[in-house]
Amino acid sequence: SQPVLEIRNLNVDYGLGDKAVHAVRDVSLTLHRGEVLGLAGESGSGKSTLAYGLTRLLPPPGVITGGQVIYHPEGGQPYDVLALTDRKLRQFRWAETAIVFQGAMNSLNPVHKISTQLTDVLRAHEPKMSEHTRGARAREMLKLVGISPDRMDAYPHQLSGGMRQRVMIGMALILQPQVVIMDEPTTALDVVMQRQILGQLIELRERLGFSVIFITHDLSLLVEFSNRIAIMYGGRIVEEAPAATIYRDALHPYSAGLLASFPALRGPKRELAGIPGSPPDLAGMPSGCSFHPRCPKAFDPCPTTIPVLGPPADLNSAGRSVACWLHPALEIS
Ligand code: ATP
Ligand code: MG
Repeated sequence: SQPVLEIRNLNVDYGLGDKAVHAVRDVSLTLHRGEVLGLAGESGSGKSTLAYGLTRLLPPPGVITGGQVIYHPEGGQPYDVLALTDRKLRQFRWAETAIVFQGAMNSLNPVHKISTQLTDVLRAHEPKMSEHTRGARAREMLKLVGISPDRMDAYPHQLSGGMRQRVMIGMALILQPQVVIMDEPTTALDVVMQRQILGQLIELRERLGFSVIFITHDLSLLVEFSNRIAIMYGGRIVEEAPAATIYRDALHPYSAGLLASFPALRGPKRELAGIPGSPPDLAGMPSGCSFHPRCPKAFDPCPTTIPVLGPPADLNSAGRSVACWLHPALEIS
């Protein structure tokens, strides 16, 4: 299917010079039209940095040091998001690609009614739209995310966490973007609520036709809801495959460990099974494959040479890529 967003060799640092922390390392990833792409990895692996980077919302001292983010607008010419002017970028961010960030439900303005916060997005982006139409669109959006119209005039503190999160999703969708990025939107909510909200977003996607990048460390949610999964470790993508494939047969020992820590889809979270140690310190990254000090299967090449991410040469690669010396890539990409 058609790509909607192509991340090419993206690199992001925090800070400059020899103190720089290289948080996103040469990441290439394609989001296809209509798909749900799940991004998983332990805390500190660079998931949020990737999301902030591709929308150029990096907080200082974050800097993009290389790469391209090619966006394919519906029926238009593709362009590089990283090369947009600030004015075009603001438009891109809500109208083409919308983001719901970690803890976003706490970023609603406490002194404004939720209806006003929704119509504000329209006011900023659709200056020619009538107040009446804006109000109608806001009501429709709230209904779509499961909030009854009689809550339109509520203030954020009058709503539960789950409802506030749904308002944020409504705000993200109100300009009908092609891409919605959710960065662990549900960490503050209980597990039942997490699944409900994600399920609702997927249902909306089927009706409205946008694509989703969903970021979490909970692989069980991704296995259930995404089409494809990419696993990040130490700032790099170490494996990427259709969700069912990775669930059945993860190739990278890190992916396998991550999956093994979620034995039942609905079970409680366990320690990273069979993978002792903690995520690498990005400032002093191990040589070679950065996972090798924790890897139960590390051998000769691992400590010295970084494996390239690509289709494994020793297996039927069917849409999957891995960066591991156990399954060296078909070709140097
Ligand atoms: P989590 O699952 O906890 O959200 P994450 O995968 O989203 O983690 P990031 O927040 O992207 O990880 O962080 C990646 C790395 O960049 C971490 O090592 C982190 O310490 C570092 N980092 C993040 N923000 C900053 C910052 N503002 N300044 C310096 N370093 C930062
Ligand atoms: Mg994060």
